[in-house]
Amino acid sequence: MHTPTLTVLAALLTALVTAVLYAVWHFNKNIPGLRLWVLSFLCSSVFTVSLLLRSWLPEVLGVVISQGFVALGAYLCLLAGRMYMGRRPFSHLYAVAALGALLALSVVFTEVYPHVGMRFVLMGLGSGVCYLLTARTLTAGGIHRVPARYLLAGVLCLHGLFVLLRPALFTLGGTASDDGGPGGGLMASVPQFILLEAIVATVLLGFGALILANEFITNELRHLAEVDPLTSVFNRRAFLTLLDKAVSSARRTHTPVPVLVLDLDHFKTINDTWGHRAGDDVLRHFVALAIRCLRKEDVMGRLGGEEFAIFLPNAGVEGAHAVAERLRVLVESQPAAAGPQSIALTVSIGIALCGQGDSAGAVLQRADEAMYLAKQRGRNRVEMAAPPGLAARAAAAPAAAT
Ligand code: GH3
Ligand code: MG
Ligand code: MG
Repeated sequence: MHTPTLTVLAALLTALVTAVLYAVWHFNKNIPGLRLWVLSFLCSSVFTVSLLLRSWLPEVLGVVISQGFVALGAYLCLLAGRMYMGRRPFSHLYAVAALGALLALSVVFTEVYPHVGMRFVLMGLGSGVCYLLTARTLTAGGIHRVPARYLLAGVLCLHGLFVLLRPALFTLGGTASDDGGPGGGLMASVPQFILLEAIVATVLLGFGALILANEFITNELRHLAEVDPLTSVFNRRAFLTLLDKAVSSARRTHTPVPVLVLDLDHFKTINDTWGHRAGDDVLRHFVALAIRCLRKEDVMGRLGGEEFAIFLPNAGVEGAHAVAERLRVLVESQPAAAGPQSIALTVSIGIALCGQGDSAGAVLQRADEAMYLAKQRGRNRVEMAAPPGLAARAAAAPAAAT
C-alpha cells in the first residue's frame, strides 16, 4: 500500500479510536485518566491530519505542528497513566520547558541546519520516553490480579522502544540503498513500515485504554456488591462467601479457623441518646478499633445493624481469644468522640472454632450463640463456644437424664 493511502488510513483509525474513547468517557466521567487518554488520541488525530496537509503548509509550520502534537499526545498518555494509578501529577513547568526546547530545536533543524534525521531523533526522544514511563507506571498491582494493565504496559513498552529506535531504521535503509541491490526498495518502504506500526499501535493502545476502563468499572461494581458502604468492611454476603472458602481450605489443611461474632452493647440506647448519625459514627469508630487489632490476612464483615464477624485464618484458638480480649479492652477504653463529649462503648464477643466437617453457617451459628451467652452473663465479655461434638453431647445429656 502506498504512503498517502496509509496516512489516510492512520488518520481515519485514530479519529475513530478517539471518538470511541470519547463516547466511553462521556458516559463514565469518573474513570480516572480517561479524559486525558481521549485528549492524547485527539493529539494523535491532529498529527495524522497535519501529515495529510503537509504539502499545503509551510514546511516549518508542518514540522512544529507534528512535533508539538506527537510530544503532547505522549505526555498526556503519561499523565493519564499516572492519574489512573492514583499517582501525583507532575509539575507541568518541566513539560512546558521540554516542549519549548523540542519545538525550538525542530525549527533550527528545519530552517537553520535542515536535517530530517535529527528531527526524527527529536520526535522519537520525547514521545518514546513518555511511552516507556507510562508503561513503567502501569506495571503495579500484580500481573495475575490486573492483567489488563500489564497488557497495555507491554504494548506501550514496544511502541516506546520502536519510536525511540525509529531513526535507526532510516540509517539502515539508507546504508542498504548505498550498497545497491534491493536497498532502494528498502529505503522506500521505511515510511510505510513506520505508518503501519503507528496504525497497529493506535488500535492496540485504544483497546488497552478501553480494557482499563472496563477494569475500573468492574472493580467499582465488585466494591459496591461486596463492601458495606457505612463501615467499608465486607457485607454479610461477601463475608460468608470468604468464610466458606476459608472453611473449605481449613478442612483440607486440618487447621481450624476461629470465627468471632461481635455485637455492640446497648447500641439502641446510644442511638436514642445521641441520634442515629452519632450511632453511625460509633459504628465506624468501632470498625477502626477492630482493624487495629487485626492482621492482614484476617477478614472482617458486618452481618447487619451493630453485629460484626471476623475470621482469623492463622490465629489458632489462643490467638483468637487474645485478639478478642484485646479488642474488648480497647473498645472499653476508647470512647467514640461526639463533638466535645465522648460516647462510652462496650462489645460482647463470641468465639467458635470450625471443626472437621463444619460448614461456614454452622460455625457462625455457634459463635453467635457464644456471643448471646456473653450478653446473658453481663455483656462486655468474651465467651468461647464448646466444640461441635461437645455441644451436641451437652444438648443430648439432659434428654438422656429424663
Ligand atoms: P444489646 O446490648 O442486647 O445488643 O442491645 P442493643 O441495643 O445493642 O441491641 P438492639 O438489637 O436492641 O438494637 C440494635 C440497634 O441498632 C437498633 C437499630 O436501630 C440500630 N441500628 C441498626 N443498624 C444501624 C445503622 O446502620 N446505624 C445506626 N445508627 N443504628 C443502627
Ligand atoms: Mg447490640
Ligand atoms: Mg444486635
